[in-house]
Amino acid sequence: MKTLGILGGMSWESTLVYYRLINQGVAARLGGLHSAKLLLHSVDFAEVAALQRDGRWAEAGALLGHAGAGLRAAGAEGLLIATNTMHKVAEGVTRGNGLPLLHIGDATGAALKVAGHRRAGLLGTRFTMEDAFLADHLRLHHGIDTTAPAAADRAEVHRIIFDELCRGVVAPSSRAAFGRIIASLAAAGCDSVILGCTEISLLINPQAPGWPVPLFDSTALHAAAAVHWMLETP
Ligand code: GLU
Repeated sequence: MKTLGILGGMSWESTLVYYRLINQGVAARLGGLHSAKLLLHSVDFAEVAALQRDGRWAEAGALLGHAGAGLRAAGAEGLLIATNTMHKVAEGVTRGNGLPLLHIGDATGAALKVAGHRRAGLLGTRFTMEDAFLADHLRLHHGIDTTAPAAADRAEVHRIIFDELCRGVVAPSSRAAFGRIIASLAAAGCDSVILGCTEISLLINPQAPGWPVPLFDSTALHAAAAVHWMLETP
């Protein structure tokens, strides 16, 4: 089994989910008492969120790149950034440490492609929905076109992520808002919706019956890709 370095804490609420899913995935594959060989650098998310808000992305990338170098020195053979948003600076992060990156867009894009979806709605932070880094990655590397919600809905999704989900707040009214926004993406012609923020599945269950289109949870897909990488690739 290879050792994976995780850049987490963005937020810790979803890093917990990664930790559980990767360990469960390794245990399911290897059985017995097996668990995942992981190294975690968990940041203070307030510092990273301030850099995001101020548009100081290069500094945010350097901060994570430095943290990744520490993980490499501690024995990590690959790196996972446990948030969609910070993939905006994925190059800066890997430049700082030279580790192979398990890109969240590859985990998500490959799953959409295998399932035959080509036009996905994209939910995430305003950075993920409005800046092109994830949409471009999905289109260029996986042939998936994405559509973000209308401006007011983007603002609401962003608010729910930062004001509620990253603080451990799960509100029924926000669950209803996501249901309405997903329905509007389906009505606009999307054949699927990407939960492109690692906290969204804390609020809504992508496996529940009744969604108008299939939902693709970036957290679960990224964690599954991590397990595959740890156990399968030479
Ligand atoms: N975890 C979220 C994401 O997947 C948002 C937190 C962040 O801004 O990094 O994008």
